[in-house]
Amino acid sequence: MSKKEREAICLICEEKKTKGIYLYHQFLCRECERKLISTSTSDPSYADYVRKLKNLHTPPLYS
Ligand SMILES: [Zn+2]
Repeated sequence: MSKKEREAICLICEEKKTKGIYLYHQFLCRECERKLISTSTSDPSYADYVRKLKNLHTPPLYS
């Protein structure tokens, strides 16, 4: 019997991973989680991550 790991698409690198966390109901892989944690809030790439998270958290109201 094999334990099936749940696969999810990481919202930042958009790769299928099994290890990671759920953030705002979206999956964030371990690698990106580490990057996010180790990235300074003043770093431009941090703002980029946050923007991605916000985009997912607040979908557009108009279609
Ligand atoms: Zn990732």
